[in-house]
Parts: sequence; structure tokens; C-alpha cells
Amino acid sequence: CGIVGVTGRMDTTQVLVSGLKKLEYRGYDSAGIYVNEGNGRDHLVKAQGKIKNLEEKIDGDVTGITGIGHTRWATHGIPSIENAHPHFSSDERFYLVHNGVIQNFGSLKKEYLSDVNFQSDTDTEVVVQLVDLFAKQGMDTMTAFKKAISLLKDSSYAFVLMDRQMPETLFVAKNKSPLLIGVGDDFNVVCSDALAMINVTNKFIELRDGEVVAITPDAIEITDENNRSIQRDPFEVDIDQ
Ligand code: GLU
Repeated sequence: CGIVGVTGRMDTTQVLVSGLKKLEYRGYDSAGIYVNEGNGRDHLVKAQGKIKNLEEKIDGDVTGITGIGHTRWATHGIPSIENAHPHFSSDERFYLVHNGVIQNFGSLKKEYLSDVNFQSDTDTEVVVQLVDLFAKQGMDTMTAFKKAISLLKDSSYAFVLMDRQMPETLFVAKNKSPLLIGVGDDFNVVCSDALAMINVTNKFIELRDGEVVAITPDAIEITDENNRSIQRDPFEVDIDQ
């Protein structure tokens, strides 16, 4: 299982797919990408099995300046296209990839989302539907994301969230699942393992549990659990490719 994300006013599709291939060693049963062109058009592609199956479904139309990708190791819900990530809110505004397990997703579903028509059997979809619910109540996206995360009990996660209304931003959070930010010139990336992005950058910022981040091509804004802004320098990775 693994996560990749790119924001960079370039064609992100190839960067995402090649990143997912480098994460194949972690094991997976399905994969998917979501990319946004930044002009109102976006694309979601998912496939069961090998990354090659996903690649075969990606045609020349599937381009984006920002995007997220995922390889899934199913914990809740069988391996299938519906259960493959990215998951999205019912109004197709928010898209989310997740590695890890949300332990209390059943009770969150009952308490907050009894009116929602779920499209998958995953624990993950609960989180993207919660973000949408809180956004509809008037919260900005980061506040809605943090509110959803604050409700997760005993859970592990690496999340990357996208909002159709803010197509250049990746919203990121982590707890007990690995996630790094890769720093580029005029672009930034996210990945579970530096190996996935070492061909586009060798500078990475480590995230700590409980931190949330807003990433655009020009800025990386990290805040901790107490809403304090964090400055952290990247380290350089030296890997023979
Ligand atoms: N628990 C999530 C699912 O079953 C994420 C699994 C993963 O880490 O790939 O879909």
C-alpha cells in the first residue's frame, strides 16, 4: 500500500503512475489516481490488480496540474474498483487517499452520516464524507479536514485530500503511517517512501504524527496538533536509482 501526490502546474499523471510503480514492493490489490486540470476538468481512474491495469485505462485525456494516487491493501471492503481509492464525497467535491485503518468508522457513520449514500465498503470513505459534511456546515476545507481527523479514535492514517474548489492544494495528515513531503522548484510532492519521488527531487521533509499540512506549488504550511505553525528544513536523500 502506498500514497503519492503532486502539485506543480505540470502534467502530473506520469509522475503519479511512475511513483506508484516504485511503491509496488509494499504490496497492493488495486490502485487509482485523481488528477485536476485546474480549469474545472478532472479525472478519476481506478483499476483492480496490477499498476499496468491502471495504466491501460489512462488515456491522453487524463492530465492534471495536481493529483493524488494510491495503491490499496484492503482492510475494510473486498478488493474491487468501488473500494479502490481515491474515494470521493457524494457531491464529488472532495477526493481522498488513505493508508491505514479507521477503527471507529462504524460509529462515525451512524452518528454523522446516516443520510449519506455510501459508494464503497471502506473505512476511508467515512472520512471524505465527514469533510464534505463539515464544509457544508460552513467550515473552510482545512478546518473541516481537522475536525474530521479529531473524531478518529485509535486509528492509523496517511491522508492526502483534494478539493475541486482549490485545485492547486494538497491537504495532508499523518498518524502512525509513513508520509514524506518532497520539495521541488515550482512543485511539491507527497509520498509514503522517498523512493517513489527520488526521480523528481532528493529533498524531503519528514512529518510527525498529528501534523497537518497544506501544500501548493510554492508553499508548504505545516501545523501541529495545537495549531502552531512548524518550520522544518528538508533533508537530502542519496539513493542509487
Ligand atoms: N483501510 C483502507 C482500505 O481498506 C486503506 C487500506 C490501505 O492502507 O491501503 O481501503
